[in-house]
Amino acid sequence: MRKQPTTEEIVAGMLVEPTGTHFLDSGGAYGRHWQRNQGRTFADEPSATLTFQAWPDGKGWMDLTVSVYHFLVDHLDYDHLWQRRLDIVAERNPDDSWFKVVEKFFDRIKAKGTVGDLTIVNTYNGEDLLSQVVWYAQANVEYKGFDGLLIVVMVHGGCDVRGGYSSPKCFTGEEWPLSGNAQAFMGCSGAEQHRWYTDDAGSHWYSDDAPDLKDVAILDQDAEQFEGNPIAEQIKEIDAALERSEEQVQRYCDMKPKFAEKARREHQAGLRLLRGEREVLIQDLTGGLEQPVIFVAEGGVGLCPVCGAPLSAFSY
Ligand SMILES: [Zn+2]
Repeated sequence: MRKQPTTEEIVAGMLVEPTGTHFLDSGGAYGRHWQRNQGRTFADEPSATLTFQAWPDGKGWMDLTVSVYHFLVDHLDYDHLWQRRLDIVAERNPDDSWFKVVEKFFDRIKAKGTVGDLTIVNTYNGEDLLSQVVWYAQANVEYKGFDGLLIVVMVHGGCDVRGGYSSPKCFTGEEWPLSGNAQAFMGCSGAEQHRWYTDDAGSHWYSDDAPDLKDVAILDQDAEQFEGNPIAEQIKEIDAALERSEEQVQRYCDMKPKFAEKARREHQAGLRLLRGEREVLIQDLTGGLEQPVIFVAEGGVGLCPVCGAPLSAFSY
């Protein structure tokens, strides 16, 4: 018997499946998800990414994205037998859209079994954190010995949200498995592990013991309220020193490649010192503010409003 593909293989395949390019879509050359996804190793990427951008007026914004790959793999199990049944419907109706094929597929199941609570969801139409739009139809199905939840999923691979979906794939799962697409945790790496939770794609955050983030300010050292503040100036000096030192070590390595490795090692030790100093200064700068502050450090990393440790996000 031929080995059946795994859930991981099926989902990765959906993300790189060509979903067409339409001359009217807004993707531009190579702008579509399925094109950009070629060659990516989804399993090695984080399940969620969280970056912050500070604006001088203190508003700033947060970008929180849940990897569609991890979300589908974590919540679904690919079902080869159901897939074969769906493929037969698709082959018999070559002129139908995928949506029509899925509709006929459930009609066929209904004729010989039962289909309960049939629900169709397009994540584009609600609060959502997924890195790509997902369309799915799910129902409680009883058919030829199967009794459970059947989920037919398509992933959007293009820029025109009305078309450009991957071919549909069949999965099983427990308790409406894809309903958490707007849910995520944000937590710090500090010893106390401060944690917040959102169920509406980051509009609101809840926590059992950490402070309310309702009025959180997203700031960095360039914020208007820190203008002329000597600590903010010190942070800027450290940033400039970090940048200079990076340029210097690069120049040195180019000139003396033989000593590059040693130079890089010493450089890293120096950077650690400067970064440690920077961390302490940020604590001093934000510690006195009444409002909770997410301070934006290098690379868009947000720092915990309680302890200053880096924040990261996890999908539900
Ligand atoms: Zn913390």
